[in-house]
Amino acid sequence: MPHPQDIVHEHSIQNPEAFWGHHAQDLHWHKQPSRALGRSTKTLPGSGSTHDHWTWFPDGEISTTYNCVDRHVECGNGDNVAIIWESAVTGVRETYTYRQLQDEVEVLAGVLREEGVRRGDVVIIYMPMIPAALFAALAIARLGAIHSAVFGGFAAASLAQRIEAARPRAIMTASCGIEGSKAPLAYRPLVEGAISKSAFKPQKVIVWQRDQLRWNHPDKLGGQRNWQRIVKSGRMRGIRAGPVPVRSSDGLYVIYTSGTTGLPKGVVREAGGHAVGLSLSIKSVFGIKGPGDVMFCASDIGWVVGHSYILYAPLLVGATTVLYEGKPIGTPDAGEFWRVVERNKVNVLFTAPTALRAMRKDDPESRFLADIGQRGGLRSLRALFLAGERSEPSIIRTFQDLLGRHAAPGAAVIDNWWSSESGSPITALALHGELGYHTTTSGDSDKTKQATPLPARPGSAGKPTPGFDVRIVDDDGNEVPRGTMGNVVMAIPLAPTAFTTLFSDEERFYKGYLKRFNGRWVDTGDAGLIDEDGYVHIMSRSDDIINVAAHRFSTGAIEQAILSHPSVGEASVVGIPDPLKGHLPFAFIQPRSSSPEENLPATPPVDLFNEINALVRDQIGAIASLGGIIQGRGMIPKTRSGKTLRRVLRELVENAVDNGNYEGKVNVPPTVEDVEVVEVARKKVREYFEEKKKLRVKAKL
Ligand code: AMP
Repeated sequence: MPHPQDIVHEHSIQNPEAFWGHHAQDLHWHKQPSRALGRSTKTLPGSGSTHDHWTWFPDGEISTTYNCVDRHVECGNGDNVAIIWESAVTGVRETYTYRQLQDEVEVLAGVLREEGVRRGDVVIIYMPMIPAALFAALAIARLGAIHSAVFGGFAAASLAQRIEAARPRAIMTASCGIEGSKAPLAYRPLVEGAISKSAFKPQKVIVWQRDQLRWNHPDKLGGQRNWQRIVKSGRMRGIRAGPVPVRSSDGLYVIYTSGTTGLPKGVVREAGGHAVGLSLSIKSVFGIKGPGDVMFCASDIGWVVGHSYILYAPLLVGATTVLYEGKPIGTPDAGEFWRVVERNKVNVLFTAPTALRAMRKDDPESRFLADIGQRGGLRSLRALFLAGERSEPSIIRTFQDLLGRHAAPGAAVIDNWWSSESGSPITALALHGELGYHTTTSGDSDKTKQATPLPARPGSAGKPTPGFDVRIVDDDGNEVPRGTMGNVVMAIPLAPTAFTTLFSDEERFYKGYLKRFNGRWVDTGDAGLIDEDGYVHIMSRSDDIINVAAHRFSTGAIEQAILSHPSVGEASVVGIPDPLKGHLPFAFIQPRSSSPEENLPATPPVDLFNEINALVRDQIGAIASLGGIIQGRGMIPKTRSGKTLRRVLRELVENAVDNGNYEGKVNVPPTVEDVEVVEVARKKVREYFEEKKKLRVKAKL
């Protein structure tokens, strides 16, 4: 008998109309959609080429804010807590009930309307992790306008790019961001710098004043407004705005992909599909079903994960969301996530594997977690979800073991795979995968009993969630047998949370996602495989595939083999040019032990190299033998959302090998977490290759 997650998934693919039409009834529609799915063909004005297009709930009209806020107040849940703000960097904790949230959002929307924001306008949110950021998104959506959240603290040039692309009516921002233990970061020079760089000038800049560092006299300059002051004045004058419904296919928000190359791509999230898809996903995948459930998504509202699971999904179902301003470590230590779980009786924690790696490095014995666990502080926790990049099996095992001892009975660590484009997990192990079963069995209520989730499989990000038809194809677009690695693609239509186009750029949508396989599949840009039992394994970005003597290897698989060595804490593999084989895998490793940096030469001891290489040869194959290893600390660059920037390491190594140019320019994306890390890597690369050169000279003598 197939598992309910498989049955429900199959039904969602075979009969999307019935499946999503049923789930649409969980939402309030200002105008009920008469059908779930519309299909058409789009023609590109430039080239004249055509491709399939799809629309969810084409004639429906909906207000996302009404569904997230007002609906819960109207049905008597106004006193339930909607938002808990836990600011580890300021020591403040605040809570907002649904009724308070409604009040904040109604007034702010009224004020924004006075400032000229109308249905269809874009408003940029450039904010730290404070409740006002959530009020802003909900208020903009309430007016039928579109928000575009840009990670607070992004450099002026990156913000300028997004201003030019989105052409916003206004920017909503704050006087400062507070990152870890550093001094507050003033946003004013960044915002004003971005506007002066941009050819497009937004009319208004609305500034939330934070006590830690103020933005002097925003009211003095044309177009700048003190947020708190205009809200106070609006409230006194009774200025409020009701929800403005929009067409289901109208944009709710635009999010720019974390993109490592080229101009950022604006992924458009459509109002109707987003609300329906997210409300099913938070219930079925995450097991957050409604009032009383508490979700803690430790991401940032600048990223898609934050949009979906800090802001919209928990509120759509009337649950409580924890908004966290702080880091996994250092604010003040590796125990803070777990204390937040304890204080707020969190049921589901969602973070990136890089956060767990940071905790493991700072607190190798997991003392904080264990201490809180031993006093029963984690008993509410039903699952720990991980996404953003591949989770190596060892990190899953470590935390599964800890949760097994301290969290709710049966608590699971769940890897799930998704992207800005998908808006929700494409694959996962659903905690309530049986949801939607009744739509497959004509209301047989016995079958709707909760099933246990599919068993976890190390190295896999689970199985497809409803609406995502995942396939593995070769470079010609032909499906490959189970167990074979290839390009991960999806069939059209994608699930309703996913994009159907790019903001104001259908041409780029076609070129970036459809053209590669002639419109037959949507290209995810990832490489991986589907195993015999239908579990999906995402190994790396397609660009990170290394071609060794005509054999293709994923960096993820090689990293996994390297990480099975007990002394390796973190590994990143790139291809190094080789005259014979084209490329060889080359690893950057960070040891687990805490010996100081001075004792760590770039070249590891021969024994360690041999042991690690033996693991790679054993688990991947002799042909994947490593071309070298550099060891060090703090040298693996990451994006702010925790993705390893392998391309940057690859460029450093290529520069060194091709022309001994250690100082050559590398393309560091604006999303980098800490640009200093790139310089540490550069030093290590120089040290490593200089030493190799010396050895070669010695050998010749
Ligand atoms: P972004 O659009 O910035 O969120 O990046 C999406 C990309 O992150 C995906 O295409 C994957 O390459 C990677 N990713 C996200 N989650 C996972 C996961 N669970 N396992 C492996 N890769 C992941």
